[in-house]
Amino acid sequence: MLPEINIGDHVEMRKPHPCGGTHWEVVRLGADIGLVCLTCQHRILLTRRELKRRMKRRLAKEIKVDETGHE
Ligand SMILES: [Zn+2]
Repeated sequence: MLPEINIGDHVEMRKPHPCGGTHWEVVRLGADIGLVCLTCQHRILLTRRELKRRMKRRLAKEIKVDETGHE
């Protein structure tokens, strides 16, 4: 199982993105997880399994988001 992931969480990947960034923000949850590169703003979708394989660690959340909806 994946560690708990929430919208707005920042994660660090094992491999850097071509732009050199390794930090991503979670922007979508579902069957696929949407991530945005914090360095170049490129957006990707990964399955939970892919994310688990590529993710190095989860970073402390920097912004507290007050969620009112589920999706
Ligand atoms: Zn990037």
